[in-house]
Amino acid sequence: SCIPDRIDLSSNHLEATPPIPSHFNSSNILPSLKKLCLDGYFSFENNQYAARDFGNTHHFLPSAVLHPKSVSDISSTIKHIFDMGPGSQLTVAARGHGHSLQGQAQAHQGVVINMESLQEQEIQIYTGEQPYADVSGGQLWINILHETLRYGLAPKSWTDYLYLTVGGTLSNAGISGQAFKHGPQISNVYQLEVVTGKGEVVTCSENQNADLFYAVLGGLGQFGIITRARISLEPAPKMIKWIRVLYSDFSSFSKDQEHLISSQDSFNYIEGFVIINRTGLLNTWRSSFDPKDPIRASQFNSEGRTLYCLEMALYFSPNEVDSVNKKLERLLSELSYIHSTLFLSEVSYLEFLNRVHFSERKLRQKGLWEIPHPWLNLLVPKSKINQFAEEVFGNILNYSSNGPILIYPVNKSKWNNKTSLVTPDEDIVYLVAFLSSATPFSTGKDGLENILTQNKRILEYCAEARLGTKQYLPHYSTQEEWRAHFGPKWKAFQQRKLAYDPLAILAPGQRIFQKAI
Ligand code: FAD
Repeated sequence: SCIPDRIDLSSNHLEATPPIPSHFNSSNILPSLKKLCLDGYFSFENNQYAARDFGNTHHFLPSAVLHPKSVSDISSTIKHIFDMGPGSQLTVAARGHGHSLQGQAQAHQGVVINMESLQEQEIQIYTGEQPYADVSGGQLWINILHETLRYGLAPKSWTDYLYLTVGGTLSNAGISGQAFKHGPQISNVYQLEVVTGKGEVVTCSENQNADLFYAVLGGLGQFGIITRARISLEPAPKMIKWIRVLYSDFSSFSKDQEHLISSQDSFNYIEGFVIINRTGLLNTWRSSFDPKDPIRASQFNSEGRTLYCLEMALYFSPNEVDSVNKKLERLLSELSYIHSTLFLSEVSYLEFLNRVHFSERKLRQKGLWEIPHPWLNLLVPKSKINQFAEEVFGNILNYSSNGPILIYPVNKSKWNNKTSLVTPDEDIVYLVAFLSSATPFSTGKDGLENILTQNKRILEYCAEARLGTKQYLPHYSTQEEWRAHFGPKWKAFQQRKLAYDPLAILAPGQRIFQKAI
């Protein structure tokens, strides 16, 4: 038999498709799943959606999808699979909103847990000095926003897009323009309820089962399934001043970004993006921005040039108009953007946070949402960002890009090093996100192969030039690469896997560990 007595997590190897031994026949074990006494149910057919994600390049069909109604549905399923031992080969992937990029929420012939059906309890809001929301791990951030706004509150740290689940973003980090001030979403959680790979339900926080708490945050779904999370809240602003300004020179752009994130008395949100020969909807879909002054907007023309756009937001209430205008004037006066390129708009907080959804709707109408998305997200240390920009924007991308390229610095003072998230070893790092869309069936520059080759060149350059970059939303195909990714954190990551998911049942789509080799 190829099944060992025990699992050696250190000797596994990884392959392009998740390997399933030829003797494995999922139909043998499915009858036993059917016998489980559940509040929800399993579906064994029409599960094709669980073999899809936003990336739309990896498709692995599960044998069953669990639609849990309670935490105990999840724990009994995992416990049942755990008790079968390594021989069953059955794995389990939590699926949040399925917005992974390379099959991370899929389980080849395994069980996918449809986390969005876990709405056992409503979103519960606690007002008071340190307000928080208790939410299901399968809850969408957009729903949390709607509910907390009814109390005049909102989470502090966001992602740019809100149709993602709490469990999905907390398994990565959850980074957006507020992260310089509040840290990523994983820095804004007080408590989690987790079902481990042994089926145990554990409450954890920085004071209780802290090792599991930090393991799960940024843990790529490897240690447990997040069934509940306690999210820290703040008073929500009513309105937003949303500002964009342009630079033709990268070093002035990044200098200004770094200046802005160095102070707490700054904007509430700071991001930025690169404009490389921008044309077409696929390149501009993140720019759902309607500047109030169209004359100024019409001066915005990047044809043939690479420009850098600094994007900022300032929160305010209607009774603070004078003071916010003064603050805005002061903050802008410290910046050296091209002065004819000030775009300014006022929108509600909801409209601002939900901005990408408006673009989504536009793309969906044109059939351009559910196409392959070969995205590449990198964290680049500040000391190397100029070098990176010169080569990548000036040479590798060379007048062509296939989607928005976000770039903004965050300072890591609010980031907890105990979590599983891996970042470059510097206080300030840049998130650089190449959000490419591949035109279906194209073999040209905008085709999938070409974009993947371009991504590879960027990664190779970072390695050759020893820039010390790390992938965010990482994806690798060998364990050597995973080891290199985790670096000094690899040992702890492996030990935590042995402690919380010793049979390597969970999140097989990340392809870090493999069940029973
Ligand atoms: P899924 O894709 O369903 O799952 C992701 C991983 O987490 C899988 O391994 C899965 O098994 C695991 N998982 C899911 N739920 C749970 C759970 N409850 N417990 C344990 N593990 C679980 N990220 C940012 O940081 N900032 C951004 O601004 C940002 N913008 C984005 C915009 C778009 C349009 C898209 C498509 C993605 C964006 N992302 C961003 C990336 C996003 O945060 C991740 O892809 C995230 O994993 C998606 O959440 P999901 O609910 O769809 O997770």
